[in-house]
Amino acid sequence: KSKLPLERIICNQGFGARKLCRILILNQEVTVNGEICDDPDAVFDTENLQYTVKGEAWDYREKSYLMLHKPSNYECSHKTQHHPTIYSLLPHPLVVRDVQCIGRLDEDTTGLILISDDGQFIHRMSSPKHKVPKVYEVTCKHPMSDEQIAHILKGVQLVDEDAPIAALACTRITQNIIHMTLAEGKYHQVKRMVAAISNRVEGLKRIQIGEVKLPDDLAVGEWRWLTESELVSLN
Ligand code: URA
Repeated sequence: KSKLPLERIICNQGFGARKLCRILILNQEVTVNGEICDDPDAVFDTENLQYTVKGEAWDYREKSYLMLHKPSNYECSHKTQHHPTIYSLLPHPLVVRDVQCIGRLDEDTTGLILISDDGQFIHRMSSPKHKVPKVYEVTCKHPMSDEQIAHILKGVQLVDEDAPIAALACTRITQNIIHMTLAEGKYHQVKRMVAAISNRVEGLKRIQIGEVKLPDDLAVGEWRWLTESELVSLN
């Protein structure tokens, strides 16, 4: 099962239709484990397979799991309305593999987004039953009082919700900046909760999902693969 002809490998990793991948290989634009292979029918074990296409290096991946540092003014859908899509920040072969983000951020929200093409993983992570805590850095218009923080921890009533919703944690970082941890991912949840206590969100950045933190060295607009331990921690 893990042994496949090179043409199928290149195709299933997202480099185009079978015919096109065949041509790439015949044109000597593909290397496998360090050597050019121009035989589309050559069979390789996909485990630990490293290959390049047009000089770009890849590891073979059955499924993809990555994180993106979302910039503002990008939208989290494939067909966007006002701004470019976050998927335009990823290499084309990943987009071909039909990756999806797990939970959307508003267009003006920045920070950590997880992306995968593993349907089961996406489904499980998005399910309301699977309460992965998410941490947001919230810049508020007005200084956050102790009473407001206490209110957020006790629970605030949002329009259209049956019961009050409480943050799992809420700590003040500076007068106007708080870190807020939520178990849910309701529509505009942070903004609505902050509005419900008569303050206003001026800047919103997601800095953590479960145990996975947005790394300091992942610049805005950049992505990287999740590490094995990050992936394990989410499951
Ligand atoms: N809460 C919001 O209000 N917006 C986001 O993008 C994420 C959480």
